[in-house]
Amino acid sequence: MLYLDNSATTPLLPEVKEAMLPYLLEEFGNPSSKYYSYAVNAKEAVELARNNVATLLDCDANEITFTSGSTETNNMIIKGVADYYQSKGKHIITSNVEHPSVLDTCEFLETKGYEVTYLNVDQYGRISLEELRASIRNDTILVSIMWGNNELGSLNNIEEISNTCKEMGVLFHTDATQVVGKIQLSLEEYPGISFLSCSAHKFHGPKGTGAAYIKSDEYGVSTPLTPLFHGGGQENGVRSGTLAVHNIVGMGKAAELAFKSLEENIVKIGELEQKLTDLLKEKFSNHIIFNNDIVNKIPGILNVQFIGINNEILVKKLAPVMAVSTGSACSSSKPSHVLAAIGLTLDQIRNTLRFSLSPLITIEELLIFNSL
Ligand code: PMP
Repeated sequence: MLYLDNSATTPLLPEVKEAMLPYLLEEFGNPSSKYYSYAVNAKEAVELARNNVATLLDCDANEITFTSGSTETNNMIIKGVADYYQSKGKHIITSNVEHPSVLDTCEFLETKGYEVTYLNVDQYGRISLEELRASIRNDTILVSIMWGNNELGSLNNIEEISNTCKEMGVLFHTDATQVVGKIQLSLEEYPGISFLSCSAHKFHGPKGTGAAYIKSDEYGVSTPLTPLFHGGGQENGVRSGTLAVHNIVGMGKAAELAFKSLEENIVKIGELEQKLTDLLKEKFSNHIIFNNDIVNKIPGILNVQFIGINNEILVKKLAPVMAVSTGSACSSSKPSHVLAAIGLTLDQIRNTLRFSLSPLITIEELLIFNSL
């Protein structure tokens, strides 16, 4: 079975499993307990993982808060900022191609008296800087724009967007779930990013674990926001709850491996993507249209229309030999809002498949397309 749905989730690397196992078994301590070795070992393991995630993002370890994944992080940042800064304003800006964990959170806030501007996107799903500038008001408290799109793979110009937000004095959050571990990314170079979301299972770590990057100032004071979870005060009081040590260790190991192999993986995925593009073109020539841009994109995501073929039927037909998807796994029951936002008709959306690669795939495996 050829797995081509790596934007939905990625397989756990064997090294990650090995790193996690002791923390499911003998090292079962609670990192918030004190003095005895089970607690100290668990705490050390969590802090090592935090350092590894911080190295991958190029930020300080104290700017990393562990969560249960990007859905939680997106909720935590958007609701947390909305609540904390409500006396300053109740206006939020996002785009209409965000993940449901951003869009539905914004819609929820609209029912609570917040006003949300949903920026339109170009044919590849990118926002315009001019529209962003024009939308920022005195009462804007947060801009939340994804780094890379999970269906099209297109990358927003986060440097310009974050600089604009900084210049205009607005907090900026980016959902970087699809780009962390996939592209070179140094938060040191983006002083305008106040918050970032990422998730371990998108870079060969375990599901149910992610992180929030919450920027600290030069004195180490982190950007304040209202916590989503109240309780024991773990994670500097921002995210209460006993830490999922085994999962966090897994995320740390996956981050370490992603950091080490980043350049190599980018080259490998680039080659795989080129091969897959060629195979699709050879096999289906003028029966396919690529919806994705070919530049400024996440390596390894192709979004392709098979003219006149229903995607649900195609996914089912391919299922015995190949795992692909019609788009986002988080909204697979509805036609893609992302493809609708870039101007595709319902028929075109229903003809579209997303292929997403990982460095674990080989060129030989892709040759299965020749026998379809
Ligand atoms: N944002 C984006 C862009 C995603 O692709 C996903 C996962 N599909 C999420 C958020 C949610 O992440 P998680 O699965 O960790 O909740």
